[in-house]
Amino acid sequence: MNPKRILVVGAGHVGLYAALRLSKKLSSREAEVVVVDPQPHMTYQPFLPEASAGNISPRHAVVPLRRELRKCTVVAGTVTRIDHARKTAVVQPISGPTREIQYDHVVVAPGSVSRTLPIPGLHEHGIGFKTIGEAIFLRNHVLDRLDVAAATTDPEVRRRALTFVFVGGGYAGIEALAEMEDMARDALRYYPELKPEDMRWVLVEATQRVLPEVDRDMGAYTVQELLKRNMDIRLDTRLESCLDGVVKLSDGDSFPADTIVWTAGVKPSPMLDATDFPRDDRRRVTCLPTLQIVDGDRVVEGAWSAGDCAAVPDLTKEPGNFCSPSAQHAVRQAARMADNIVNVIRGREPVNYKHKHAGSVASLGLHKGVAQVYGIKMTGWPAWFMHRTYHMSRIPSFNRKVRVVVDWTLAFFLKREVVALGQLHDPREEFAEASQPVGALRG
Ligand SMILES: Cc1cc2nc3c(=O)[nH]c(=O)nc-3n(C[C@H](O)[C@H](O)[C@H](O)COP(=O)(O)OP(=O)(O)OC[C@H]3O[C@@H](n4cnc5c(N)ncnc54)[C@H](O)[C@@H]3O)c2cc1C
Repeated sequence: MNPKRILVVGAGHVGLYAALRLSKKLSSREAEVVVVDPQPHMTYQPFLPEASAGNISPRHAVVPLRRELRKCTVVAGTVTRIDHARKTAVVQPISGPTREIQYDHVVVAPGSVSRTLPIPGLHEHGIGFKTIGEAIFLRNHVLDRLDVAAATTDPEVRRRALTFVFVGGGYAGIEALAEMEDMARDALRYYPELKPEDMRWVLVEATQRVLPEVDRDMGAYTVQELLKRNMDIRLDTRLESCLDGVVKLSDGDSFPADTIVWTAGVKPSPMLDATDFPRDDRRRVTCLPTLQIVDGDRVVEGAWSAGDCAAVPDLTKEPGNFCSPSAQHAVRQAARMADNIVNVIRGREPVNYKHKHAGSVASLGLHKGVAQVYGIKMTGWPAWFMHRTYHMSRIPSFNRKVRVVVDWTLAFFLKREVVALGQLHDPREEFAEASQPVGALRG
């Protein structure tokens, strides 16, 4: 028999785990697994706040694809179109002309992108918090703002530099805000010109609570903890505009800020618009509990999806409920999907995915956290410890686990590294200036 070609679109939580399992379970006579992703690594997103705060090295929050997926064919590129009727995907490699890849089965796992709103100034002044690039940029930017504030004699420039606004109080926003504030507060010991009270950390959340993934009392605890750290928490408030970096809120307040981080939710990858897959009203690919894509009541043969881009029924709840976009579901769905693809290739029936959401763990900075797992609620140090042990057990590969533990262990003995490497974001500036034509220099 000819080996089947399985095309995996996106090597994130779903794509990496699914490709790994498929390539372990199927022999090369049974299948060839082709993985397409523009990044050479999978990003373990739950570690972005820790990487941003400098608790772990940015390289250790990502998993190199070519090292992990030795038995797969890895293509560095973006899938720009899928014509499932012809079982063909169009791939734009990171450079050069597009190419077509034919397949027998496709795993649609491009994840999600930030869900933004048409807020004036957001496009120009906001930044998301979903990629390692954004997390490290934010770290360098925040530390750089401390340098700006310490160097200036203008109180307006200082106030603006030290105002940090986060929009969206889900776990990504809360963890990013809490970890960055913790890092900046730590860094201030080297800035005699600045006091912690000079910094203004603002959370803008449109609903009446934060962390909707945990019970209300845990959300309220989190708000109390952040308030104790002098943060400005605005619930029931929306960002209305940030033209020229001047933040205007729906409660009437207005102030300039050099840092505006948008963490107000996600929406399925827009790449899905260039496919012929069925979608629901939230633009997610519609799936059966087997992770097969379904059009009405017709199974779309050879098409599978999971993770943030997919509407997967949650069989642990009433009909009409879907699994939340979380790493917890994504990695488990990936395993179930891989096993189901193996089943189908070997002529067996696929099995339903069923997992009761275990709860959430969130870090609020070093030694601070909040957790609710299988109904058990924890706060402070135990929650933070649970956050770390859970994610350490989840990050793929032994290599990454060891590196992350080494980072954490070193941090127990050495002070946190708080140097800004902002030059990384414009590395050619100095050389470009030095290599200007002589006339240009004189002129
Ligand atoms: C800061 C942060 C903290 C989080 N913390 C937690 C947590 O504590 N617990 C939890 O359960 N969840 C957490 N999440 C959510 C979790 O990370 C996501 O739900 C999970 O990553 C979804 O997996 P996925 O495979 O669907 O998408 P992703 O992991 O985002 O992977 C998508 C992949 O597809 C690639 N891709 C995109 N478009 C294309 C294309 N056109 N062609 C080819 N490849 C493409 C991307 O490069 C990426 O590698 C967090 C998220 C963030 C941002």
